[in-house]
Parts: sequence; structure tokens; C-alpha cells
Amino acid sequence: MEMEGAGTLGDVDSLPRGGFRCRLCHVTVANQPSLDDHLRGKKHQRLENLRSVRQSQELRSVFVSGFHKGTTALELSDYFQTYGKVVNVVMDKDKGVYAIVELQDEEILQKVLSQPQHSLGGQRLRVKPREKKDFKYTPPRKQGSARREQLSPEKLAQNLCQVEDVDAQMSLVVQLFEFSESEQRLRDLLVKLFQEVFSEFFPESAILPFGSSVNGFCVSGCDLDLFLDLEKTKSFQASAKGADKPQAEEEASPETESRSEDSILTDIDLVTATVPEVLELVATVLQKCVPGVHNVQVVSTARRPVVKFCHKESGLRGDISINNKLALCNTRFLQFCTEADERVRPLVYAVRYWAKQQALAGNPFGGGPLLNNYALTLLVLFFLQTRSLPVLPTVAHLKDLSDDGELTLVDGWDCTFPKDPALLKPSGNPESRCSLLAEFFHVFESCSFSGCVISLREGQSLPLSDFLLSEAGRKFKVGPINLQDPFELSHNVAANVNEKTALRFQRCCHDAAKYCRSLQYQRKSSKGKIWGLVRLFQPGGPQAAERLVISLPLTPAAQSLWSHKELYQSRDFHQLWFRRVCAGISFVLEHVLKCSCLEKPQGLGEEREAAGSDPEEEQLKTKTEQLSVGSKRPLDVDDEGACSPPPKKSRPDSSLPTTESVTWNCAVWHHVWLGRRRIRRQFCSPEPDPKQTADPLELEAKVSEAISQQDGETRSVDPLFRFAVCARSGDGGSADQDTHISLSFTPGPEQVAVFQDFFHFLQGFLPRMVEQHLTSKPSDLRTPEGNSSQGDSI
Ligand code: ATP
Ligand code: MG
Repeated sequence: MEMEGAGTLGDVDSLPRGGFRCRLCHVTVANQPSLDDHLRGKKHQRLENLRSVRQSQELRSVFVSGFHKGTTALELSDYFQTYGKVVNVVMDKDKGVYAIVELQDEEILQKVLSQPQHSLGGQRLRVKPREKKDFKYTPPRKQGSARREQLSPEKLAQNLCQVEDVDAQMSLVVQLFEFSESEQRLRDLLVKLFQEVFSEFFPESAILPFGSSVNGFCVSGCDLDLFLDLEKTKSFQASAKGADKPQAEEEASPETESRSEDSILTDIDLVTATVPEVLELVATVLQKCVPGVHNVQVVSTARRPVVKFCHKESGLRGDISINNKLALCNTRFLQFCTEADERVRPLVYAVRYWAKQQALAGNPFGGGPLLNNYALTLLVLFFLQTRSLPVLPTVAHLKDLSDDGELTLVDGWDCTFPKDPALLKPSGNPESRCSLLAEFFHVFESCSFSGCVISLREGQSLPLSDFLLSEAGRKFKVGPINLQDPFELSHNVAANVNEKTALRFQRCCHDAAKYCRSLQYQRKSSKGKIWGLVRLFQPGGPQAAERLVISLPLTPAAQSLWSHKELYQSRDFHQLWFRRVCAGISFVLEHVLKCSCLEKPQGLGEEREAAGSDPEEEQLKTKTEQLSVGSKRPLDVDDEGACSPPPKKSRPDSSLPTTESVTWNCAVWHHVWLGRRRIRRQFCSPEPDPKQTADPLELEAKVSEAISQQDGETRSVDPLFRFAVCARSGDGGSADQDTHISLSFTPGPEQVAVFQDFFHFLQGFLPRMVEQHLTSKPSDLRTPEGNSSQGDSI
């Protein structure tokens, strides 16, 4: 066998039964040929190279501390240059504690270390050899683990419901979404790493972050937008080329010469190369030279072509563009707005999350017809410019305020605005965040998007027809939403949005505006219901909870009664029927799906409340048992008057068609809605025993039982979630014969998202099972004896 060098030999451990483990890559292989393949493979080679680069860097680097806070990398570099060439200086984040200075070779390092004393700016420096660390490769975290750290919708709802008012909820949204310190650090380090690598290949280039990482609207996990500024590199290349010419040879500085030699710039002329060509080169550098970066891909068809990449260890996605200076400018503008008024961030975060939950906005890979986050943010800023007492000034006004009177032109567009937001007078607008959010929806529910151009420069919506005649208007791509970029005036930032999305945006604004007028938005619930932003953030909008309704037409079961005319026409039919169905519902929830299910006391039954713990548990338990057919003491319709008062009637006069209702508080303990089909198949043997009649209810109960065992019987702790369900009869109020019953569900505050899955399952399952329960005992309604205890048999 051929081993690939001493380093490699030391990396391999032999395992029993002929296997091997490569400690460098954390890879185990079964035999010698597989080991050879691994050692020759890309991963091992890459890590070996990386290790030798790091080791050689370590041997040439010193650890420096003791300098003044604020000392720059350049100052340190200048100081150590007196001993020989300095290759790189890496400062720690807070600039002032330490720096790693990488020298050209070990000889220079020895010179530096043999000097007994170093001082810079009157400050004595501590200089020591860099600690030798074992090179350690950390395997990337499994997909999903990074995501798990992100805030779940349930946790978010739980946190939001606890604070005092909507203003506090909005501030909390910012706090919960923005980068943690460690995420910020990671991004800073990545930018530094990119800068180091790109400086190597594109001398004097600069890598500049823009977009949500730096514009004041960061959200944990958002993409990392980078701009690679090659302007200076172009000049560098031009001067290096000039230096290559024989007559200029003597004038070329030795530094320029050595840097141009090993530069990939010899392969390309940055001035004449096309954007895709340069991006291909950028992609090659990323792929080959930036550790931890993968999935590199050039997307040259986008409006702004980019190279996409992914940082493997953190899962962070990002892109690099080379011709997007305007984005740097609008990024600074957004940041300026966040600093101009403290209500901007909470408002934008709330609108962004609302729009994300309604699938109106976002940043799907490859675009799409949704508003992107930049466009949505501009809508909020425009709204703030147009309050009767403006919260933000117009862009035209900002230009007038610009301190030095100098024009900032980017790609020919006027991007002048002051650097310092402190120049602005406080807005004087007294509106709270809570009411601004409500007003945002109100303004856009009735905005006639298609007939105007929303202009942040002017702070007003301009008539589309007039605007199209202007110079900027002639190139403007008209769409159902026309949102002018504040600087690139001929650009419609929402040009990708289609008619359908625009209409949906307005409809969602309408729903949100309506909800914001309710007390549920404005006031914290004293009963533990979801309130304020939480309902706004529900997928499907604030009215989603109202739509959590399952209809039980129960036609076949009802038809089977029609033959019993005397019963069907009896005055009590409605009541009896309703009670029978309620018994079926609670049977399915409790015995088939293994939920806890307690009927609420009468008088509270009608009210739709989020489920919670109930102090009268024991008493309720008895009641539920009375209602449940599967319980030890089944309630029969004929018992009705004797042992239990009828469920609440909203109209006491029983001669009229009545609306009756029963509410249960339920708790779900196991994931009984997941993987049922697979388990059901296991129970349905291919050769069924003819003696055993397959009772669907019994079978489904067995399936739930199996799932609960799989889940590990965690019942002793908390339930997965709670919900309340209210059954109502005769809602239509149409006729005595109406057998239709509707079930309205209210999830507990903290588990809205998981409840949605469960609810989706119930929509199909519950009507079938209740129907089954009713038809398997059609005579129950008539004869008390017919009501055998199915629960016991399950
Ligand atoms: P996020 O990445 O969280 O969705 P973002 O603001 O970073 O938000 P991106 O779509 O990543 O949004 O865009 C990055 C930046 O590029 C934006 O902040 C903005 O500066 C600029 N940008 C994006 N889309 C447009 C556009 N349609 N017109 C002009 N500039 C844009
Ligand atoms: Mg972004």
C-alpha cells in the first residue's frame, strides 16, 4: 500500500477486523482499499493541505497584546515591518485586546522574538510565539441542528403572550429575531476570512457586507449578502500591467511586482472581462481557497448576477455580487432610517414576520412572485413618511439636509443623504408602535396600487400615467405594485410581484386591519387566550382561528333515523340527536385518540376559550364520563332528564329550533396523527380472522395505543398541547330537521403550529369516526338497551 506521507500515516488508526479510522477527517472505513481511496480523496487531501497551511502560519506568527485600544491592523503591520515582511494581521473583534501577526518566514519571527522589548505609541507590547494548537477538524453539524436553535412558532407565541402590551410584543420580536452575539461574531469572522482570501487573489479588493446582515433588520439565519469591490483591483491591475512594460520596469515597486506574479489576475483583464467571467473566477477562488465553503454556484441570469455559496459548518447561505454598489447605498439608507426613529425596527420586524407567515413576502431561492424583504421594508418606510405628522422624512428632504452639500452619485443616480441621523429633528409624531402597525394595514388595504407609483423620494404616490412620461418612468417596469427604488428611480422594486400576490397582499392587509380594531389585538387576554401579534402571526391570518371549524353533516347516520318518524318528529329530537353526537365526539377524542377530554361546566360552554388547566377537574371528569358512550356509566338518551341536565341552550324555549353547545377542554399526549397508516397496516393482517369483525373504531384505537407506546409514555409530564373544542347544533337555524353539527377549535396559546397539523388530521378523521360511532349503533337513540359500552371493548 502506498501511504501519502508521514502526516497521513499518523492520522490512521487500525481497527479490529481490518477496518481503519482516519482521525483527521473523522472517517471510518471497512478495509485497506477503502482507506486508500479515502486518503487519495478530495476531503482528506483538502484537510491535509489546510492543516499544513495552518501549521506553517502558526510557525510564522506572533501573538501580540498590550497595545492601545483602537490601534489598527495597519499600525501593527507598520511596526513589525521593521523586522521583515508582514503577511497578515488579524485583530480580535473588539480591537484592542490582541492581534495575530503573521510574518513572512521563521527567520523574521526569530528576529522579532529576540528583541527584548517592543513598544508602540508609548505602550509596551507583549509579544510571544503563537500557541501551537493541534489541528482539529470539526465535522459539520447535521442539517437541521442549526435550525433547531431557531425560535419555533410555539415558543414565539408563548413568549409574546406573556408581555404586557403590543408595544412590548413588538420590541420582543426584534430581540428574539435579531442576531445573537455568537451569530454576529460568526458573520464578522466569515467576512474577515473572505477578505483575507480575496485580498490574496484580487489585491486591494474589498469585501463589503450589505442587506439584512447590516441594514438594521437582521434575522437569525438570514443570508449573508456580500459585495466584492474590485475598483481598486482594476487600477492595481492596470498599474501592474504598465509595470510589465520594459520602459516602466524600473519604476515598478518591488511589492507590486511580487504581488502580481502569483496573482490569478494574470488570467483575466478585469476591465474588459464580462460580469459572468469575473464571477466564474470568484467562484473558483471560493471553491478552492475558502475553507468551509461549499455549494458554490454562479447565477448569472439574475438582475444582479451573483455567486451563491453555503458555509458548511454553520449552514449560513450567502451570495457575492460585483456590480451592486446601489445596494450598498440603499443598505446604508435603511440603516439610517432605523437610527432616525426607534419605532422603525419593531414595525418592520412585525410586518416582515406577518408577511412571511401569510406567504406574501420572503426570499425564496430563485425569486418568485412574492414581495422581497427589501420591497416590503420600503413600503413600511413609505408609510412612515406619509403619516400626517411624518415619522420619517422623504429622500428628497434628506438630500436637502445633507451636510456637506456634495453629491453622491452611484451608477449615475443621486444617492445623497446625510451620514448622521442625529442631524434630523425628532419627528413629533406621537403614535405608538401598536397603532402604527394597525394603521399600516389600514393604509394598504385600500391603496390603489396599480394606478400609482409609490415614491419614497417624494414621500407620496404619484399618478402612474404622469410618471411614465418622465425620464425615469420610460424605463420603469410597470406591474400590479409599482414601488420606486429611492435612488435608482427607474427601478420598480416590486416588478416581480404578480397580480395574484398583489391582490392577496391587499386582502391580508384587510384581514389584519380588521383584527387590529378588535380588543383581542389591543389588550392582553386575562384568560390566557392568544392576543396581540400572536393572532396576526398565525399562518392564514388572524381570522384563521375562526376558520378552525369542522363540519359534521352526519347525513348517513341521520338518514338511518328518518325511518323512525315518531322520534324524528319529536320535539326533543334535536336535543337527543345533539347529545348522541356529542357522546360520539368525546368517545373518538378520548377513547380512539387517547386525548384527555373534559367537558366545561355549563354556562361557560358557549364561550370559546383557549384550553387550559381546569380547577374543577374531578367534577368535570364525572360529567364527561356521563356524556361518553365508552365510559363505565354510559349516558343514554332516556336517562337524560334523570341524571344530567341538558347541555346549555342559548335559547331556553325548547319549542323553537335551538342552538345548543358543549365545550370540552382537551389535552393531546401523543403524536397520534403521525404515521397512522403504517401502523394500521401492521394491524390489518393479510388473512383476516373471519371470527373477528374488524371494528374501525377499535382498530383506530389500537393504532393510537401503538403510537403512544412508541412515543414512550411521556404522559406523566406535560401534554404535547391543549385545545378547546365547542360543538354547536342548529347553527344554520334553518329547520328542526337540521342534523348538522359544527365543531370550533381553539388551540392553546403556545402550540398553534403543532395544533395546525393535528387539526388538519382531524378534519378527515373526526367526521368519519363520529359517523362510524353513530351508524354502528343506530338504535341507540331509541332504545336504552342498545347502548352497549364500546369503550370497554377497546
Ligand atoms: P433577507 O435576506 O433577510 O431577506 P435582505 O434585505 O438582505 O433581507 P435580500 O433579498 O437578501 O434582502 O437583498 C439584499 C439587499 O439587496 C437588500 O437589502 C437591498 O439592499 C438589495 N436589494 C434586494 N432586492 C432589491 C431590489 N429589488 N432592488 C434594489 N435593491 C435590492
Ligand atoms: Mg439578504
